[in-house]
Amino acid sequence: AKEKGRNNFQFFTAELNALITERVELENKLRRALERQQFSLHYQPRVDMRTRRITGAEALIRWHISDEEATPPSRFIPVAEEIGLIVPIGKWVLRAACAQNKAWQDAGLPPFVVSVNVSVRQFRQDNLVQTIAEVLRETGLEARYLEVELTESAVMHDADQFIAMLGELNDLGVQIALDDFGTGYSSLSYLKRFPVDRLKVDRSFVQDIGHDHDDATIVRTIIALGHNLGLKVVAEGVETEQQIDFLRANDCDELQGYYFGRPLPGEEFRRAFLG
Ligand code: C2E
Ligand code: CA
Ligand code: CA
Ligand code: CA
Repeated sequence: AKEKGRNNFQFFTAELNALITERVELENKLRRALERQQFSLHYQPRVDMRTRRITGAEALIRWHISDEEATPPSRFIPVAEEIGLIVPIGKWVLRAACAQNKAWQDAGLPPFVVSVNVSVRQFRQDNLVQTIAEVLRETGLEARYLEVELTESAVMHDADQFIAMLGELNDLGVQIALDDFGTGYSSLSYLKRFPVDRLKVDRSFVQDIGHDHDDATIVRTIIALGHNLGLKVVAEGVETEQQIDFLRANDCDELQGYYFGRPLPGEEFRRAFLG
């Protein structure tokens, strides 16, 4: 029994070592990726429900390991958040998205809002408002053409300080969206105090609108809530006609999802959606 116990322990240590090594390698690779400019942005359209015209594009980060291979953000964003590397990465994303949007406008394309995902860590570690003001000045993009997407987990942290920062962002003229709405637990009384422009209904609810009665009720309720607070409501992850019919019947304002377009590199996005 003693012998067996030791073997188990050795096995466990070996596994743990492998995990730690893999993790350290990922951290080092991430640090190098920033220096070597291995990140790029893809853009996904968001359309007005009635006109089907583009009202915005969400910038989504991609990490290129090789020409064919990209690591999905779900694999590296959480690590970047943990080690604080999300702050410089996030700054890069903001600058790249604003510069791209300004370039499209300068090329004479109809203007729209570019949405950038911002992590909690960026709010806490960085002077995010100052960074955003700086990026807007550097790139020459007008504030109203930038939107930041925040998750509810960000919201719950340090509510008073958070509301103050949102107020400053709002004063700058930047738009604010609450992402993955319905999955967190933001208190409704806070929501009333946030200078938020948009609620993005989480994809998990939209997905099952057609066959899950509870999800349909949740989506309907979020749309009504948003409208009562004077906010626009966006459905994310829209893939089917059936979902669109439901969202139209319930007066959702904007739609985003594979049905209208997958995230694409800037140049392909321009060709596919901006004419
Ligand atoms: P998110 O902010 O909720 O972004 C939407 C995700 O859903 C994207 O995945 C998008 O490709 C995917 N999606 C859009 N439409 C559909 C659809 O119709 N069906 C399905 N199945 N999926 C759809 P992606 O690009 O893999 O990003 C995953 C998450 O990574 C994002 O979720 C966001 O939380 C995070 N992320 C991406 N880029 C950044 C970034 O620049 N900064 C930060 N902090 N986080 C980012
Ligand atoms: Ca988002
Ligand atoms: Ca989302
Ligand atoms: Ca999501």
